Amino acid sequence: RKALYAQMRDMPARTTDGADISLNVNAGLLIDVPHVVESGADGIGLYRTEIPFMVRSAMPDITDQTRLYDRIFEQAEGRPVVFRTLDVGGDKLLPYWEDMTEENPAMGWRSIRITLDRPAVLVHQLRALIRAGHDRDLYIMFPMIAEVAEFDQAKELLDHQLRREAARGFVPRKVEVGAMLEVPALIWQAPALLDRVDFLSVGTNDLLQFMFAADRGNPRIEGRYDTLSPSVFAFMRQLVTLCDQRNVRLTICGEMAGRPLEAMALIGLGIKRLSMAPASVGPIKEMVRSMCKAEVEQYVLSIMGSSTRSLRSRLKAFAIDHG
Ligand code: PEP
Ligand code: MG
Repeated sequence: RKALYAQMRDMPARTTDGADISLNVNAGLLIDVPHVVESGADGIGLYRTEIPFMVRSAMPDITDQTRLYDRIFEQAEGRPVVFRTLDVGGDKLLPYWEDMTEENPAMGWRSIRITLDRPAVLVHQLRALIRAGHDRDLYIMFPMIAEVAEFDQAKELLDHQLRREAARGFVPRKVEVGAMLEVPALIWQAPALLDRVDFLSVGTNDLLQFMFAADRGNPRIEGRYDTLSPSVFAFMRQLVTLCDQRNVRLTICGEMAGRPLEAMALIGLGIKRLSMAPASVGPIKEMVRSMCKAEVEQYVLSIMGSSTRSLRSRLKAFAIDHG
């Protein structure tokens, strides 16, 4: 299998009916980055910037961060890297940060909420990203956006830092800014949101826990709700339609994107970009190259109105039937 994946490395992730799917990786440590090139992925769809913050004993300063982001750019060898701003709180704690014990951490003070309340942290990070992004393509995305107003606030901080750093000679070749869709409320602001962002990335790990009101880490309810369920499909289909209408790039970057059956269903729903753990790129590319998008789409649309709780067994049967 390893040999097969290596062989496919330079082949496109193209379905049998000619649809190109962009496969990207999720990374968080420098050692993840060489795997991008090795795996034959198109780029880094999600760089979790909080990971280097979590493994240190103190908050890295602007110089440390600039050096780190610069090395990530270098190691990605020109492939696009989407940097997600600091996403701490919830299940990701910084040992040196203030005590954040909360009753309900998943819905608590986390992610963009923290960095908007403590803008100095975000400002320093943005400055470092802009400096490292000098003369390069800089993609920045803000996590856990629940309202357009939060995106606007974060974007304003970024624009201010872009002007400030430009005056010091740091100018990225191109800057694109996106939001992560992890809080369901955001989709009901789609028109305003899609006017503002260059791209959207769906964090299905968080999104699904909020859609079903089911803790992503609680083993007691594991398996009660399936990612391959009619409500998830309806959500994704609506999102694809909205993004296509406005020409906004849409990526799925939660764990489901790295599982072949889930990825097949997502592509059937119209998703063209996936971001996953490096080890999933081979298996997903193999799946993509064996599927006919039009057939999967037709099948997915025919079953998504079903009232069963999971479409998994039907999709599995379909996948087996179609090789
Ligand atoms: C997600 O929520 O799906 C996601 C990609 O972000 P994280 O897993 O880092 O919360
Ligand atoms: Mg998340």
